[in-house]
Amino acid sequence: LLTVKNLTKSFDESGPVVDGLDFTVREDEIFALLGPSGCGKTTCLRLIAGFERADRGSVEIAGKLLESPDHHIAPQNRGIGFVFQDYALFPHLSALENVAFGLTDIPKHKRNVYAEEVLCRTGMGDYKDRSPNELSGGQQQRVALARAIAPKPKFVLLDEPFSNLDAMLRDSMRKEVRSILKKAGMSALLVTHDQEEALSFADRIAVMNDGKIEQIGTPEEVYYQPKTKFVAQFLGRTN
Ligand code: ATP
Repeated sequence: LLTVKNLTKSFDESGPVVDGLDFTVREDEIFALLGPSGCGKTTCLRLIAGFERADRGSVEIAGKLLESPDHHIAPQNRGIGFVFQDYALFPHLSALENVAFGLTDIPKHKRNVYAEEVLCRTGMGDYKDRSPNELSGGQQQRVALARAIAPKPKFVLLDEPFSNLDAMLRDSMRKEVRSILKKAGMSALLVTHDQEEALSFADRIAVMNDGKIEQIGTPEEVYYQPKTKFVAQFLGRTN
């Protein structure tokens, strides 16, 4: 579904932050980019979303070219849902209105009912009338997740979407979000530095280091058959 070829981006003279990435995310697949802080994961996501321009390479979804050095489709026209680290909820709208906002395909009288249903699934039903500044970081994150998945985009980008949740909530949210994605037949690209999160949430993982992919494989493959020393070390398999 998503094809990334030779994707490369530098911000300054210090060299590429994203350096020749090649990977595909299949239909109905949850794919994780896993790597240490600063390895270029978020930049890769921003290139796919259309918030940065690529220096080299291309991004395609379902055979449609979205990004290359001489081609750029605006983020809002890419048909992608996203949850970024800072959630970016509309501050003047309630939780419910935030989720309902993008649901223009649903008739108006049904919009709020459906938005509430999705909020309930992320455990935020009781907070539907609160505005973002009346919610904790973790609660805002759950509203942002509901807002991203409610329109059922074919493809969703998730940048550390569970980072502000406590351990117990994180676990249940992972399961809930995974089940929502799978039921709706959506594909997702998740960015995380948490190996346990990648191993438990994703169908396949690309382990990144310093702008490059070291290995792509299922959780079992990267965990039990690390191809490089870095992968083994990052997954805590060197003892
Ligand atoms: P984290 O997990 O900490 O978010 P990351 O793997 O997502 O890290 P990026 O946010 O992609 O990493 O950043 C990779 C590198 O690119 C960092 O060294 C960062 O300082 C640099 N960088 C990111 N955005 C810009 C920008 N707009 N201008 C200059 N440098 C940038």
